[in-house]
Amino acid sequence: MKQAQSESQTIDLLVAGLDCPDEIKELTRAFKGKTGILNLSFNLMRGAMTVSFDSSITDSEHIISIVQTTGMEATPASDRGTPLNNQDGGERKAFKLTIVAGIATAVGLALTWVPATAFHHTTWPSAIAYSGAISVAWWLIAPKAWTAARHMRLDMNVLMTIAVAGAIGLGEWFEGATVAFLFMLSNWLESWSVGRARRAIQSLMELSPLTARLQHADGTETDIDTDAVEVGSRVVVKPGEKFPLDGHVVEGSTSANQAPITGESVPVSKAIGDEVFAGTINQKGAVVVEVSKPASDTVLAGVIRLVEQAQGRSSPSERFIDRFALYYTPAVIVGAILVCVLPPLVLGGDWGTWLYRSLVLLVIACPCALVISTPVTIVSGLTSAARRGVLIKGGEYLETIGKADVVALDKTGTLTRGHPIVEKVIPINSTSVSRLLELASAVEQRSEHWIAQAIVAYAQDQGVTPPPCDNYTAISGKGAKAQVEGKTYLIGNHRFLEEEKKCTDEVHQAMLEHEDCHHTVVALSSDDQPLGVFLLADSPREEARESVEALQACGVSTIVMLTGDNEGTAKAVAQACGVTEYQAELLPADKVQAIEDYKARGKRVVMVGDGINDAPALAAAHIGIAMGGGGTDASLETADIGLMTDDLRKLPWLIGHSRRTRGIITQNITLSLAVKALFAALAVVGLANLWMAIAADTGASLVVTFNGLRLLRSGDKNNSPGHQSC
Ligand code: ADP
Ligand code: MG
Repeated sequence: MKQAQSESQTIDLLVAGLDCPDEIKELTRAFKGKTGILNLSFNLMRGAMTVSFDSSITDSEHIISIVQTTGMEATPASDRGTPLNNQDGGERKAFKLTIVAGIATAVGLALTWVPATAFHHTTWPSAIAYSGAISVAWWLIAPKAWTAARHMRLDMNVLMTIAVAGAIGLGEWFEGATVAFLFMLSNWLESWSVGRARRAIQSLMELSPLTARLQHADGTETDIDTDAVEVGSRVVVKPGEKFPLDGHVVEGSTSANQAPITGESVPVSKAIGDEVFAGTINQKGAVVVEVSKPASDTVLAGVIRLVEQAQGRSSPSERFIDRFALYYTPAVIVGAILVCVLPPLVLGGDWGTWLYRSLVLLVIACPCALVISTPVTIVSGLTSAARRGVLIKGGEYLETIGKADVVALDKTGTLTRGHPIVEKVIPINSTSVSRLLELASAVEQRSEHWIAQAIVAYAQDQGVTPPPCDNYTAISGKGAKAQVEGKTYLIGNHRFLEEEKKCTDEVHQAMLEHEDCHHTVVALSSDDQPLGVFLLADSPREEARESVEALQACGVSTIVMLTGDNEGTAKAVAQACGVTEYQAELLPADKVQAIEDYKARGKRVVMVGDGINDAPALAAAHIGIAMGGGGTDASLETADIGLMTDDLRKLPWLIGHSRRTRGIITQNITLSLAVKALFAALAVVGLANLWMAIAADTGASLVVTFNGLRLLRSGDKNNSPGHQSC
């Protein structure tokens, strides 16, 4: 008998109308108790929800129909990035209706100034204009209000409907019309500003072309969808065009502007064999590129996915606001009811007066602007960082890195360039240079380590072919061991040689003598005696010192270098880079321990490393930053933040950016709450009227949103990251 396999699947849906926490609650409720639904997650900024479900029980059509029961429309998002939640049509309609309501209100207001005699002492003409404005709003808002009310949910649409109805009941036509108009206006502004932030992410996506010019075996060319291009096929890219996919140049040469990925617009030359990335711009020559990855796997696609996921995770401020909103709205509504009933009942106040005051309270009950202003700020911050080649994987890291106490830096590949070359070979114990190179490259040919690669490359240059090796073992943070021609050899740092008791006086001297800030020294030894010393050049990055000083100026109290390299080199590099603290000859586990020690002392630790051999330390730190090496995917996976350009000046920039982000969030929260508190107080004592309350609310949401969007341009004025203030 065949049994249905339970299989978990996920579907990503764009939901039109999903832009307030209220809607999330509504959707969660709709899915509650439905069989086969495993998990729901929401992304307000994208207007999207992700549903994981058991495909043996339910399917995507059923899921979409569940969404429809709430009055919202869902459409599956496409695989390759997510297109904008297409609310443009709705936005335009809302805008037109808002204008109509505005004009009607203005006409009504104008008519009150017409000499009363012209209309036989009646205000009916204005009342008609006002009711026109109210009807237009009603047409837009009533369906939403009705859906909400049916589900016993007091959302903003319901509250505003009550407020407008109340105003009409009290004969306050002007107030009713202005509330209706301003509510529409603030709704429209809100969706516009959220759309603005969404479009910023979209703009990253538009970087990669949709079609590629495929070259067939017979030399003919056709334009096809990048999605349909197979790995291994060849595409032609003309000057001025963007590379459609990731791949290697196989014909021609050119230079590429890689700013879309690295944020650095200095052209990078590309010859045969060089890697090119989708979305970067071919500047000079026509080239043929062999495609190495499908469209959905390019570095750029990865970046976009990460930015999208990043803004889906809520940051501490967002969580705070969400919790706050949970209590705020019900509290204000209860307050409004009390203000309406208590004074007339207890103090014998006038029902009309207190009803009006409670309506003012209702108007300010919506936390929506407050709720949306934080994600807008975070998304702006994440997107502007991504445009500068700084990939932040969550709002949390963006918010907290500004508070870092300790910045720990790896040496090789982080403070130094990390692409060393062998500068000198010192044979010992009458070994010949060629024999030394033969043995060393034999062992190192199996290693991924940058030192190994340098030694193998050097040996090759000298015309040495490495013999095969057996039983290769990498000894993390120290070196490597292997058997060549039946004998065991080892290569590694000073500490390793000493531990293995292979360090003679001669080796000791040779190593100490050459350890300086531009050199790393390793030695090769057989089972019975050392054979030679290798001197590798690896200088500090040009911007290292400047960046370390900028970090100090930002107030980061401890900057420490952690390295597996020899004491002498470590000390020299630390000095050259202006790093006051360093720890040398550390194994990967020692680096983790060093970070744990700082954490135990209550410090917030940021670790910057090269993502491959520093993965454990990156994971141990509060925030792990990987040098991106121009966008190699391995480092993007491991860290919380990736520097796509290996530019250390991005570190102080990032700390400043984080502080600017937090500053804006604080300003926004303070301003929104202050406006609400002020109007709550004014409402109770009877000094605020309806239109003032809603105008202030709309104004406040406008201000906070624009304040958040400012981050999209954070640091633009002074684009060289080295000169960013914190
Ligand atoms: P870092 O902390 O500088 O990134 P690692 O932890 O990768 O360095 O390695 C520490 C030290 O161990 C290196 O400086 C080098 O001296 C030695 N080492 C590691 N692997 C090798 C290797 N394959 N060949 C020679 N030396 C090695
Ligand atoms: Mg390293």
